[in-house]
Amino acid sequence: MKDPEIDAIEQAMVTDPKIEGLLKVLQMLVRINREGPGGTRGAGFVPDESVISDGFPLADARLLPDDIEQLQGRFSRFVGVLLEKDPKGTEEIVRFYTDGKVFRGLLSGVLAQEYQFPNEFSGGPEPVVLLAANEALRWLLDPLREHAERTDLFREWIASYCPVCGAAPHLCFIEGEDGRLFLSCSRCSARWKFRRMTCPFCGEAGKEKTRYFTAEDDPIHRVYVCDTCKHYLKSVDLREKPIVFPRLEDLISIRLDVVAKREGYLRDTVDFVSVLAMGA
Ligand SMILES: [Zn+2]
Ligand SMILES: [Zn+2]
Repeated sequence: MKDPEIDAIEQAMVTDPKIEGLLKVLQMLVRINREGPGGTRGAGFVPDESVISDGFPLADARLLPDDIEQLQGRFSRFVGVLLEKDPKGTEEIVRFYTDGKVFRGLLSGVLAQEYQFPNEFSGGPEPVVLLAANEALRWLLDPLREHAERTDLFREWIASYCPVCGAAPHLCFIEGEDGRLFLSCSRCSARWKFRRMTCPFCGEAGKEKTRYFTAEDDPIHRVYVCDTCKHYLKSVDLREKPIVFPRLEDLISIRLDVVAKREGYLRDTVDFVSVLAMGA
């Protein structure tokens, strides 16, 4: 069966061969995410939709199924893909999270945006663990996000974190003639409306504190930087390119990450682009 995201990644390898290695890693992540079986997915979790109007995201640790072995298997494979060149590092991380309780602690901590690595943890780069946990969660979050989008649940949402899973945005989209702005979740790819010209990480709205850079020959992407909190956020102009896959956009606009980092700005979330670069 044709998969538009896989096809778009393949197309990007042709137009931008310099980042072929990164795109291959992304493709493997997408493929693992697509795999069944869907048996334990969501585990009958029925979200309390009223939390949305109080400003809380839909998902919490109750989303995790009782039997998390399948998620553990996925997590291990994600780590293996991200650390392809470091089998020893992969082995150490997988071994550390073999204990079901430790693994459950990772997923629920990451979901609540408050995971602390245990003192005993010594294996491998921490961003890889966090990204692999995000990927494993994504598989559970997908049905929840689809449900919320279908029922237009985030209509009134005004916060800068994701209404589905609580994670911070990694990108924003500019849409429509009036240039409405939507944030895109770094973990589950949910999309929700947000104020323009406001830093989603610290709330700064002063004109002199926020500015943007562009890359030559790229009219679609920009990077907005905030001088108050020193974070950056890339944007995609959907008026120029209506169909996008957020993580692919994140990779193909990598030149803007380089510019922003050189100027001293950081990502607020797990740095997807640089973690993928480790495995590429
Ligand atoms: Zn999310
Ligand atoms: Zn800021």
